[in-house]
Amino acid sequence: MTLPENFDFTQSNLQDYLDCPYRFYLRYIRHTQWPALIVDDALAFEQRGQTGARFHRLIQQYLLGLPEERLADQAAADPSPEVFSWWQDFLQYAPPLLEGARHVETVLSAGLNGHRLVAKYDLVLVRPDGGLTIFDWKTSQKRPKQERLLERVQTRLYRFLLVLSGGMLNGAEAIRPEQIEMNYWFTSQPELPINLPYTADQYQKDQTFFKKLVDEIAALPGEAFTRTGDLSKCRYCVYRSHCDRGVEAGDLEMFDDFLPETEENPDDLDFDQIEEIAF
Ligand code: SF4
Repeated sequence: MTLPENFDFTQSNLQDYLDCPYRFYLRYIRHTQWPALIVDDALAFEQRGQTGARFHRLIQQYLLGLPEERLADQAAADPSPEVFSWWQDFLQYAPPLLEGARHVETVLSAGLNGHRLVAKYDLVLVRPDGGLTIFDWKTSQKRPKQERLLERVQTRLYRFLLVLSGGMLNGAEAIRPEQIEMNYWFTSQPELPINLPYTADQYQKDQTFFKKLVDEIAALPGEAFTRTGDLSKCRYCVYRSHCDRGVEAGDLEMFDDFLPETEENPDDLDFDQIEEIAF
């Protein structure tokens, strides 16, 4: 066992492991800081991240019931004009989807084979028809294909964990996979969210997948966290020069094609909010 004590598995670190076991090792076991840029235009990259975070905050405040006029003023005063335009799109397309009991910025966790899985949700909506929709707001410039989203750890983990530990969001009633759907809403195509319903069959597959994955990672000795053979994974990795996989940072314009997990930082999780079931 090389994992730090009390290590939590999240979509970000599991996706890192699947992309490159060595990146997981450097980041989460060795805690290696490496002074390299992820993309070529660091300033634009940082601004993009901050703009996305401000937009997420606006939505969060809206969902918590702050007055629309106040939020509209806030959006109009934002230093990035994109935010106001995204906000108008949000108000036009999203509210009809948001009827029900809202659980905003909810964190869930559950034990699996003696390890802990954790996920932070932008919104879990319990709809009047008894279904539950997981919403994730994306400010990436491109809308990915549905097939790619279905493969992502985020999609698999969020739906799986809601079945496993979301009962308290559902009036203490167990949740069946068929009650759940995941809705990715994109600022780039606000009229076309991607909706991914869950099934019992997929739940079984996810259970097998995550059990095997966390057991495998927990049992791996340090030297077995090998470098990926897929060089495309190195293009937006800060450890490029450490691994002798190039020194040039990746192109910011192509960044969204790689669907990196930059919108959730596990370090941001507020563990006081975690609603947990027993191991
Ligand atoms: S540069 Fe490539 S091999 Fe090295 S940690 Fe990053 S993804 Fe893995």
